[in-house]
Amino acid sequence: MAILTKAPRGTQDVLPEQSAKWQHIEKTAMKVAELFGFKEIRFPTFEHTELFARGVGDSTDVVQKEMYTFLDKGERSITLRPEGTAGCMRTLIEHGLLNGALPVKVSYLTSCFRYEKPQAGRLREFHQFGAELVGAASPAADAEMIAMVSQIFDQLQIEGIELEINSIGCPECRAKYNEALKEYFHSHEEELCETCRGRLERNPMRILDCKSPICHKIGEGAPVILDYLCDDCQAHFDELKERLDSIGIEYTVNPTIVRGLDYYTRTVFEFVSTNIGSQGTVCGGGRYDGLIELLGGAKTPSIGFAMGIERLLLLMENTGVAFPEESTCDIYIGSMGTKASIEAANLVNSLRAEGFKAECDLCGRSVKAQMKYADKIGAKLSCIIGDSELEEGKVKVKNMGDGTSEEVELDELIEYVYEAGLGEIYGTLDSVLNDGISNLKPLNIPPEINF
Ligand code: ATP
Ligand code: MG
Repeated sequence: MAILTKAPRGTQDVLPEQSAKWQHIEKTAMKVAELFGFKEIRFPTFEHTELFARGVGDSTDVVQKEMYTFLDKGERSITLRPEGTAGCMRTLIEHGLLNGALPVKVSYLTSCFRYEKPQAGRLREFHQFGAELVGAASPAADAEMIAMVSQIFDQLQIEGIELEINSIGCPECRAKYNEALKEYFHSHEEELCETCRGRLERNPMRILDCKSPICHKIGEGAPVILDYLCDDCQAHFDELKERLDSIGIEYTVNPTIVRGLDYYTRTVFEFVSTNIGSQGTVCGGGRYDGLIELLGGAKTPSIGFAMGIERLLLLMENTGVAFPEESTCDIYIGSMGTKASIEAANLVNSLRAEGFKAECDLCGRSVKAQMKYADKIGAKLSCIIGDSELEEGKVKVKNMGDGTSEEVELDELIEYVYEAGLGEIYGTLDSVLNDGISNLKPLNIPPEINF
């Protein structure tokens, strides 16, 4: 049955040979966030549907067309999260985190679910790295979040990605803007898609985000929000630009960005690439000063962003960005016979306790087949233990790189592997980031080291 061996449409498997790339992106993003004072937060994969309907906005594409919603066995309407911010804010409110010191800075790696038309860079299950800076109203916070994304891209050595910013104002300036939009779109009412006709009275700004080419074309001639900003929103936007200029972050103002989620106010931004086809937005974010209040918390101005990991990976692969080399097995200890196999198992265990990547035979294979396997997994050193090695307490260790061998006392094997310069995972922050192994021993990282 093909259904058993075919993943659902719009999902993507991450195979072992690709996971190192994922880990590199995830670790770099989390590490940079940590440098900015962010701590990881985790929240459920599903929430009450109402949270997203309210938070994301019930006239958005996400809520109207894309949510994975179902009734659970208790007849509750449940939705798989289409984005991170609403669930994250629910968590902060529920646990009273907004009553403590502000701003609260949290970051997360999550899977998101949207029923969309699958294509390159557009999946039904995708992954985001997101961060939320909660409880800071000033443009300094906006600049800080943009600087954080920018630094993540720098650390990943990504080039050719452009920052576009806009301000979509506050409810006060938006009211005037919406009137102007309504007037404009009414004159094109017949041409709009059905969904957008429904949006005309309720939320005309949504029409600007419609994916239908006709609505999009009509939207191009619409009035722009920047002409309707109130004095405070204008001053906020001006200061953000001044701050970006001052830290040397390049941007263009794109007055057509409105973002697909309703909670945004004032600053919105996107990091866009032309190297990954039409799904070019790798990261989207903005300020959401009204969301927490809308969800039942106290008014808490905040700003956040989310980047799509699949799109980021696509961009890095398409533009030939280097990934760290995958680390492979340090030593393969083969064996002949049960007694030797047990000794090999003891040895690899001791080596692993010291932080080396060590493997042994688990299939009862011939020596030839074991050596072939050692070669395939890229073992740097290998040896075979048999009865005579056990008797003499010595083993021939082969350097798989140059083919040379050396005789080593079995009880000095760990020192030998150390001296071979392997198992460097305790050595530098670089190797820890690349290897992704938690430090079994305390790391001694000089503070000036840049990863
Ligand atoms: P788009 O306009 O491309 O649909 P969006 O405005 O819906 O994006 P956001 O809700 O802001 O996107 O999500 C933030 C980021 O998550 C996007 O910039 C993108 O990188 C990624 N993303 C969003 N939807 C998908 C998807 N269906 N598949 C893969 N990545 C996605
Ligand atoms: Mg979308």
